[in-house]
Amino acid sequence: MADQWIYEVHHLVRDNDMSICCRCPHCQRVLGIDGDEFDDVRGEQYQCTCGGWFEVSYNAKALNRDSTLPPNRGVPE
Ligand SMILES: [Zn+2]
Repeated sequence: MADQWIYEVHHLVRDNDMSICCRCPHCQRVLGIDGDEFDDVRGEQYQCTCGGWFEVSYNAKALNRDSTLPPNRGVPE
């Protein structure tokens, strides 16, 4: 069960189909999120299929394509 805390996400990457992906801080799955540009998703909140909410940090780093997303800490700052 995902907890209620809205975690921040600090890393973004583009998938092969150019969609923007991040790692869910709750379940650590990589999921695609809505948005065409990295700047579109920064500061936005999303809900993972696990039910957990997260917010993309305003300073979220865009990694090179094919980079592996590091695990999120999964704990509030
Ligand atoms: Zn999740």
